[in-house]
Order: sequence, then structure tokens, then C-alpha cells
Amino acid sequence: MIDFTDNKYSNLFEKQKAHQLTIGKTTYKDRIKKLKRLQVAIEKTYKQELRDALYKDFKKPQLEVDLTEIYPVVDEIKFISKHLKSWLRNQKVDTPISLLGSSSWIKNESKGVCLIISPWNFPVNLTFGPLVSAIAAGNAVILKPSEMTPHTSKVMSKIVSELFNENEVALIEGEVEVSQELLKLPFNHIFFTGSPQVGKIVMKAASEHLTSVTLELGGKSPVIVDDTSNLDKAVKKIIFGKFLNAGQTCIAPDYVLINESIKSEFIKSFKKHLKDFYSEDVSNSDSFGRIVNQKHFERLNGYLEDAKFRNASITIGGNSEEKENYIEPTVVFDASEDSELMQNEIFGPILPVKTYTSISEVLDYINSKEKPLALYIFSSNKKRINEIINNTRAGSTCINHNLLQFLNHNLPFGGSNNSGIGKSHGYFGFLEFTNQRSVLKQHTLGAVDLLTPPYTNFKQKLVD
Ligand code: NAD
Repeated sequence: MIDFTDNKYSNLFEKQKAHQLTIGKTTYKDRIKKLKRLQVAIEKTYKQELRDALYKDFKKPQLEVDLTEIYPVVDEIKFISKHLKSWLRNQKVDTPISLLGSSSWIKNESKGVCLIISPWNFPVNLTFGPLVSAIAAGNAVILKPSEMTPHTSKVMSKIVSELFNENEVALIEGEVEVSQELLKLPFNHIFFTGSPQVGKIVMKAASEHLTSVTLELGGKSPVIVDDTSNLDKAVKKIIFGKFLNAGQTCIAPDYVLINESIKSEFIKSFKKHLKDFYSEDVSNSDSFGRIVNQKHFERLNGYLEDAKFRNASITIGGNSEEKENYIEPTVVFDASEDSELMQNEIFGPILPVKTYTSISEVLDYINSKEKPLALYIFSSNKKRINEIINNTRAGSTCINHNLLQFLNHNLPFGGSNNSGIGKSHGYFGFLEFTNQRSVLKQHTLGAVDLLTPPYTNFKQKLVD
């Protein structure tokens, strides 16, 4: 047995461990009551504080906070509250004739003590969203939000300590070192949202205790726009998906592949809709956020400098303001394959666009890269849409729009390999925090003892 007594968080962990079976025995009604308290806190009591905190952290527009941080968590609570009773019911399954005299069922039991590590880009949504699934499944939880959005973490910490005893849910604020220390503990499940690089660190740490993991990661999500799409609508939707949260969205379009024949129309439409959304001077628009900090501002500006150096063409935008961590919505054509823009997940308001002449070219290009978290298709050609879906792999796909797949609780949300392991949302998120325990009960009457010695000729004949 490894001794954890010198770990800074071992006391808290032990408290939760001692309490986990009690939480695991709570009814669906008890759990819904807890979830409803969380709903009231974020939807009413602390709504304005959360909005203010997110504005201080990176000038997130208020309506974006309501729609992308608060609403998805509230909606998840409502959805789960509707279904939890049936998810917690033992699920009877058939028992084969060879096990005559037995009955079988699946019991969805809690995993135990879980760790949730979340990123900064949608800090409320991506901390409380998984928490909702974990509570629904009857777990004790330690939350570690990102150090990059400290104002929001502070309000979330206040909410958690007001609503929960720490032997049930606790939130620990702090830097990377906090995660590193927590990751040494033998959690029963770790739910991590963040970059693939840190995902690998989390998985390595989890392997030490054979802790199960959910990894919600990132990557480069492509958008394909073909010559049969409604171009004007497609462009409008891409601008929404790309520049929401100033491009700092895991499922935002990372780059666009357009049919060569629609290039000039694409640029014209892009300029028009950008102006309609954010006015002539985007820096003065209340609808456009900022880059989270100077480090990421410099990273993104570095990508732009590198693209220029490699002769890419900055077709739209390209301006920035260091004082504000502001980067203008920017469209880049002809970024070379070895450029930073095409090698890394961009996670900011810069959109490289490449042209293609055939769909097979598009498929080869996408398949030469890691599996994306999302793949988007704008087309009205059904056959081509199917061809693209059947010949690629991705965590999710949205046809003729983007981002919306995140909002349907009936769809699993997550990546595949480099973009993630495991799924979240609705029943899929609940399952992630659940052990599906198999139970087989042999009834005394009618039991056939075929399996026990002595292995007589009679038993052999029955098997033959
Ligand atoms: P990140 O991986 O840098 O950090 C995420 C969390 O991990 C933070 O809480 C941080 O404190 C912690 N962390 C960072 N380094 C660590 C280390 N060495 N050891 C242990 N913990 C560590 O990610 P980020 O910058 O906060 O978020 C951006 C990334 O997250 C992007 O790649 C984005 O695509 C991805 N993301 C994915 C989803 C999804 O649902 N799939 C959602 C949002 C963001």
C-alpha cells in the first residue's frame, strides 16, 4: 500500500472516501435535490457574480455567459432530473438457457471519489457540467478549476462551499502544482478537460492506480464547405462558431477547406457578415471577447508572424492590441503546411482557409492528421456528406452548422484518441461516473449444477 499521509490533500480525500458509500446509497430524489440547489445558485443567486467574474477574467460578453456557461449546466440538470429515476433502476437483462434457474441485472453504482480537472475557456460549464453527472451518479467529488480564470474560480468555490459539505464536494483553487498533487491520489475516476498534452500526463498518473479516466481534449477541427452549400448561410454560421468566445472553444472550426470555385464569394460574404456581427471596428464591439492572458496573446501573435514569414496571405483582419489582449477576427489564406497555424490547435480568432479541387483531396488531408474533436460539413449533396462521414473519423459531426451538437443531451460529447477518451453529457456523462455492476442471482429451485465435478458422462452428453 502506498502511504499518502504526506499528500497535502490526503485528509480531504480520506474524508470523501469514508463518506462515499453513504453518498452512493442516496436515492434519485436526494440527488435531484442537490442538483436543483446548484441550479438555483448559478441561475439566480450567483448569476450576476458569475457574469462579472467572467468579464473580469477575459471580458466574456454577458449574453455569451448566459448562453454558453449557465444555460448548458441548467439544461443538463433539467435533463438529468427527468431521467435519473430510470437510470438508477436495476436493469433486468435476459439470462441464457445454459444458466437456467438464474436471473440477471445491471446495477448502476457510483464509482466513489472522483477528481474533475477543468480548463479556463468555459470555466463554469466545464466544471459544473461534469459535476452534475458525478452527483447524479452518486459520487464524492474534488474539483480543480483552471488557474487562468481566477475570478470565476473564486465564485465557483463560494458556491460549492455554500452548497456542499466537503466530504461530498470540494473545490480547490490553484496552479498546476495543485493538479499534480491531486493526481497522486488513488481516485476512482478522473474527468479531465484540457489539452491533449496535459491529457497524457493525467492518463499516466491515473495508470499508477488503474484509475479510469474521461479525457475531453482538443485538436484541429476542420470545416468543409463544398460548391453545393448555401454559401452565405454557411459563412455566417462559421463566423458565429469561430469567433464565439474569441475562438477559444474546443469545438470551434480550426481551419476551413473550401472548393476553389467559391473562394472569392466566400471572402466577400465573410467580410459582409463580420461587419454585420461586430461592426466596422471589432475592438469596440460588446459581442467579442478577449484572449485569456498575455501568454496566449503572444502565442497567437506568434502564429500570425510565422504565417506572414512563410508567405501566407492575411486576407481579413490581422490587427491586435497588446494592452487589451485583443486579436481581431482574422482570415488567412495559403498558410503552409509546416506553419504554426497548420501544426497546432489555434484556439483563438484566427482562421486559416485552404482551397481544394476534389473531395478525395480533402479526405486524404483530414485523414493524414489526428482524429479531430469535431468535423463540420456544409453541403447540400447528400451523397457527398455520407462519403465524407464514412471516410473520416471524428468525435462528432454537425452538418450545415457548427457547435450545435454540443447542446443535444441525447448525443454523446467527446473525442476519439488524440481528441479524447470517453464521453460526456446526459446518459453518457452519467455512465462515465458509474460502474455498471453485473449481478447474477441463482435461485435455489431449478438450479442446474452442470459446472461442478464430478464431470460425469451424463453431464458430457448434455453439453454435446
Ligand atoms: P490545459 O490542458 O493547459 O489545462 C487544463 C487543466 O489542467 C487546468 O486546470 C490546469 O491547471 C491543469 N494542468 C495544466 N498543466 C498541468 C500539468 N502539467 N499537470 C496537471 N495538471 C495540469 O488546457 P487549457 O489551456 O486550460 O484549455 C485549452 C485546451 O482544452 C484546448 O486544447 C481545448 O481544445 C481543450 N478543451 C477541450 C474541451 C472538450 O470538451 N473536449 C473543452 C474545452 C477545452
